[in-house]
Amino acid sequence: MTDPYFTFNTFLRQKFDNQKVRKIPINAGFSCPNKDGTISTEGCIFCDHYGSGPINTFTMPIEDQIKQFIHGHRGMKYLAYYQAHCNTHASLRVLEQKYEIIFSFEDIVGLSIGTRPDSIGDEVYPLLDKLNRRIYLMVELGLQSIHQKSLTFLKRNHSYDEFLDTFQKLRSRGIDVVVHLIVGIPGETKREMFDTVQEMNRLKPAGVKFHLFHVLRDTPLSDMYRRQEFKLLEKDEYIDIIVSLLERLSPDIVIHRLTGERDREIFEAPNWALDKMDTIQSIRDRMRDLDTYQGKMAM
Ligand code: SF4
Repeated sequence: MTDPYFTFNTFLRQKFDNQKVRKIPINAGFSCPNKDGTISTEGCIFCDHYGSGPINTFTMPIEDQIKQFIHGHRGMKYLAYYQAHCNTHASLRVLEQKYEIIFSFEDIVGLSIGTRPDSIGDEVYPLLDKLNRRIYLMVELGLQSIHQKSLTFLKRNHSYDEFLDTFQKLRSRGIDVVVHLIVGIPGETKREMFDTVQEMNRLKPAGVKFHLFHVLRDTPLSDMYRRQEFKLLEKDEYIDIIVSLLERLSPDIVIHRLTGERDREIFEAPNWALDKMDTIQSIRDRMRDLDTYQGKMAM
């Protein structure tokens, strides 16, 4: 059966001549300006202690994290994913040192750098340019929503305009950008989520990651959840919304993720989201039943 949406695996097969490629989640030891006091000390309301990075290898040196992953997934090619916290938030010298590590692993064929839209200094772009010429590079920008009221609710402390500026600087250098979006932010209507997707169609990032709005333990969001300050989406509602978003998203944008994905140890709610494979299968089943696909209603 052909996929009803442009999967990340399909993209990887096309990009790397059908070789099996896996992403290595890495904590490169960066902090985040929204947590370390550069912008704020509070952090985004949903952010966990590990800054969305790997929890089991969190304290290991970068080289050891890579070696351990490769040891457990032999015979493949790899994308190094600098995932935890904000991976452009350091001096140029430190960034150079940390990125350079991946080049001593011959089976690493790409680098993915996760960061905030307001945290790539002008002096960093030439380094990204250089990296992009040496290896396949993608930069993952956490946007979450184009709507200021949602960015404020999440305590992102950056604006949509800052995202646009960074996005254009990366694209003008031919660097692939993957945009992170959150689905189900309290107070956002379906219409407003469609507007975010419509903007993605206009901007044409290389890919998007859809995250379910979910609660992790020991976060400000967890406190709010326990005080019943908002409602989470039920599984059926989420599937309904995701299918509608996919129908409206341009078919050439790669879908890197379709649900919330976090370790069970730090996950709080909603419970149904813990079964990631079930959620993805339910989305696929719904799309098959509706005879629909990514881009069917894209404008
Ligand atoms: S920008 Fe990312 S790392 Fe920083 S507080 Fe927000 S979610 Fe956490």
